[in-house]
Parts: sequence; structure tokens; C-alpha cells
Amino acid sequence: MSRYAYVNGRFVPHGEAMVHVEDRGFQFADGVYEVVTIIGGKLVDERGHLDRLARSLGELRIAWPVAPHVLKLLMRRLIAQNRVRQGTIYLQVTRGVAPRDFKFPKHSDSTLVMTTKRATSFATPEQLENGVKVISIPDIRWLRRDIKSVALLPQVLGKQRAVEAGAFEAWQLDPEGNVTEGCSSNAWIVTETGTLVTRCANNLILNGVTRLSIIRLAKEAGIPFEERAFSLEEAYRAREAFVSSASTFVMPVTRIDDHTVGNGRPGSFGERLRQAYLDYASGEGAS
Ligand code: PLP
Repeated sequence: MSRYAYVNGRFVPHGEAMVHVEDRGFQFADGVYEVVTIIGGKLVDERGHLDRLARSLGELRIAWPVAPHVLKLLMRRLIAQNRVRQGTIYLQVTRGVAPRDFKFPKHSDSTLVMTTKRATSFATPEQLENGVKVISIPDIRWLRRDIKSVALLPQVLGKQRAVEAGAFEAWQLDPEGNVTEGCSSNAWIVTETGTLVTRCANNLILNGVTRLSIIRLAKEAGIPFEERAFSLEEAYRAREAFVSSASTFVMPVTRIDDHTVGNGRPGSFGERLRQAYLDYASGEGAS
């Protein structure tokens, strides 16, 4: 962790950064968050993350803690203060501090907390060389997964199951046996016939900012693409699979449960898209 955190108007040493015990984020998970990648000291896809933050706040009727243009300045100041060239910035906004009561408080100022994390790399050479394993688990989450809520207990349990199974991620399944998404990533396959597929973005998944960039890059590259649900069975038979998120970009998946994906090696579509995303993230996508 970096040296400073931002808490409600102050840049404080990380170890002394605190929120109130009656913060609604702590009491009710009444808050939202974003994780933005930093490359070369710049923010990647900042616009997409701030647009999604605006949407999450709007859906929950939580007020902006500061104006968006001020937030942009504060993020940059924290990154500079912590001298992060490569890594991530985490920001959380909650409905603020109020005596514990379910209904919205009449008066509360939204809480804003930000921390940064340095990363020497976003994937290990081994992960890129061999791909990673995912397991499948039932999706036990609420039906507003489009909101980037801090209520992440199902994902905590899912990730723990993945770790215990020696896997990188857990793909969650809806009652029809279709993959919704990973616990902290979107899920993609390339079908046997060479079409890139990811689930359409509605209330059942989080519309990844990376997902949106990858869709645009795939279209620009002329890759056949379909936005639709796919079953676990179809994923087992896929030619390729990968996950996407702000901190993994495009991560090849070569094993799903006990099935080998394709020939067991990271596929060419995923590699092309990872490179295209990296070029974008360190070029026009950075600000
Ligand atoms: N889906 C879920 C449930 C997530 O938690 C995340 C990221 O944390 C994603 C998808 C990927 O979103 P993004 O590409 O914006 O990081």
C-alpha cells in the first residue's frame, strides 16, 4: 500500500486513514466504488469509470461527494503524492455517516475514500504464457449487478472457492446454466466457429469499462462478435476463453473446471485483444 490515503477532504498517512463506525458503507454496504488502472502515472479509461460512478450513484441516489472535476484533481494529487507510475487507484463513495437506521438519512454528507496500490506488472509471465484456470459456481448475488456496489460478499466467497481450487477466478452461473461473469471480471469466449462472445450488459452483470473498450477494439479489428449469453457447456467447447477487468486487461483462460479450453494454450484472439488494449491503455485511453 502507498503512503497516503484520501479521506473526506484530507490526505492522511495510510495507517491513520479512518472512517466513522456509523458510516453507512460500514453498516449497510450503502456505497459504491471504482478501480482505475494507472499506467505511466496516467489514468486509464477515466471517462468510462467516472461515467459508471455517476450511474451507480444515480441509481442509489447517493450524492456526489465532490464535483466530478474536483474528483479528477484529487485522484491525480493522490497518485502524485504516492508516486504511483503503475498500479491502481481505488475510490469508494458511501451515503455518509448517520445514526444506524435503514432508511436514507435526512442529512448526511457522502463519504469519499481513495487509496492507491502500486503494481510491478498486471499479470505474471506464467499467466500470460499458460493461461489461468477458472471454476464455475452458482451466481448468488442480487439482481442489480449493474451497480458497482461495495456489497461484495458473494464475490468474496466465490474468490475464496477459486483460490482453494487452485483457480484464478470463479465464473458465476445463472439458474439456466449460463455464465453471468467472474467475481471481479467479465467473461468471454471464442466459439468453435471463431466468434467472440460476451454476455450483454443488463442488470445481471457489471458493465465492465474494460469490456466496453474491448468490444470497440474487437469491432475495429473486424473480429466477428456477438453480445449474448453463453452456457457453461458452450464455454467448455470454446476455442478460446478469457476474462477482462481494469487490473487484468485481457487474461487468457485455458481451463474451466476440469475441461481444457481449445488446445490448452492462450488463443490468438485474446492475445490480439490484449495487445490492442495495452496499446490503447498506454496511448489514447490514458489521461
Ligand atoms: N464484473 C465484476 C463483478 C467486477 O467486479 C468487475 C471489476 O471489478 C468487472 C466485471 C470488470 O469491470 P472493469 O473492466 O470496469 O474493471
